[in-house]
Amino acid sequence: MSLFEKIPDSVYRFAARFESAGFECYPVGGCVRDLLSGKNPADYDFAVSSPPELTCKLFRRVIPTGIKHGTVTVLFEGFSFEATTFRTENGYSDSRRPDSVSFTGSLAEDLKRRDFTVNALALDLKNQKIIDLFDGCGDLKRKLIRCIGSPQERFEEDALRLLRAVRFASCLGFEIDHPTFEAIVKAAPSVKKNSAERIRDELTKIMKSSKPSIGWELMRRSGLITAVLPELLPCIGFQETENRRRDLYTRLIETCDALPPEKPLLRWAALLNNIGKTKSLAEKDNRQSDNDYGKISAEIAGAVMRRLKFSNEQTQTVRLLIKTGTIRYDSSWSDGAIRRFAAAVPENLWDDWFTLRRAEALTEESRTTLLLLDEFRERFRKCAMENPALSLKDLAINGADLLAAGFPKSRIIGDTLKFLLEAVLENPSENTRERLTELAKEYLLRTSENQS
Ligand code: ATP
Ligand code: MG
Repeated sequence: MSLFEKIPDSVYRFAARFESAGFECYPVGGCVRDLLSGKNPADYDFAVSSPPELTCKLFRRVIPTGIKHGTVTVLFEGFSFEATTFRTENGYSDSRRPDSVSFTGSLAEDLKRRDFTVNALALDLKNQKIIDLFDGCGDLKRKLIRCIGSPQERFEEDALRLLRAVRFASCLGFEIDHPTFEAIVKAAPSVKKNSAERIRDELTKIMKSSKPSIGWELMRRSGLITAVLPELLPCIGFQETENRRRDLYTRLIETCDALPPEKPLLRWAALLNNIGKTKSLAEKDNRQSDNDYGKISAEIAGAVMRRLKFSNEQTQTVRLLIKTGTIRYDSSWSDGAIRRFAAAVPENLWDDWFTLRRAEALTEESRTTLLLLDEFRERFRKCAMENPALSLKDLAINGADLLAAGFPKSRIIGDTLKFLLEAVLENPSENTRERLTELAKEYLLRTSENQS
């Protein structure tokens, strides 16, 4: 089947609408790149000759997404198509956005302002021809990301392209052409001109690629890591123990690869996990306990996530996954210990916790760790099936019950409930009204004796 046969009929009908009004319309960018690589495009973008106001008039359901930049989203036969008027960009004094955009009459001008050759391909649907002005097809075959024109100028115009180059290389499994890569190395510090949100989004797209380690290696080799994630630098070349084959950094990026691409947040947790190890081991003389590097890593990860403007919820999730990463199960754990673990990790993260730890164990290449983890997961699964009480709200009595039983209205209520939860985690059969009231009274008596 030819490339043109794979294109949905709606795309042809969409383009025909422009033609019958005397305008040109070409699928461009990512969709052409995907079609040529044998993939199904996730969406279709079009370069059109009509000015945005006229594009709006051609269709019934339009969203003026970025009228100023010439972009209109058209809802058409169940698709959401983006049509952008041919444009050129003038001057980039801040390396972030063009000083102005102007519309141009020519597709060639429009293609020239795009970033990489593989992103500057267009399709002439009427004549069934690929429009390839910069040998993008050749670069697709060679699996190369190459700037259009002078790489140095292109990166000076727009510093986001530094990350886009790495992102496309990672997502497509391509290499970066040598002169383009050299220009990235030179311009790397300017990546900071991008907003934190845009940096975060590009890095997260790297995390969604099938092998994020490709992207992170390019980030390291180009010096981009130094600019956007300096916290990773101490992990490079850091040997955790003498018998490990790889340094900590390599293990972290390989752990990302071992996790599913549809779980980018989990991959972030994998990347930032153990990042505090270099600090805690360096301070070993101060008798840092094993647990400390979990805490230190969680703190560093939290700071990174906040800087990159992740949501509070995402930051908390990553922090928790990292902080609990130093928990080491062994077969001597009682069922109570398993329930205490279940109480420490929110239920919506249970699966993720085990998925992350399994990926870590795989890159650690320790069979014992893997076997223990499987045993832990199996015991955990059985324990969770029994639906044990894991939080204060699962207890058979609450604060009001304690007040009714004559407890003073003070901190002691909260302390007593916590004590009861500990008792129930250890022994779930204690979770009855009678037994908990009894235990609460004993606890109150003990604490008041201790205080007097
Ligand atoms: P995908 O959507 O699959 O990530 P894409 O190639 O469609 O890939 P977009 O970010 O959606 O990438 O951009 C669409 C097209 O617009 C690109 O293919 C490229 O031609 C052009 N483009 C986007 N951002 C830039 C930029 N910063 N500089 C130059 N051209 C760009
Ligand atoms: Mg796109």
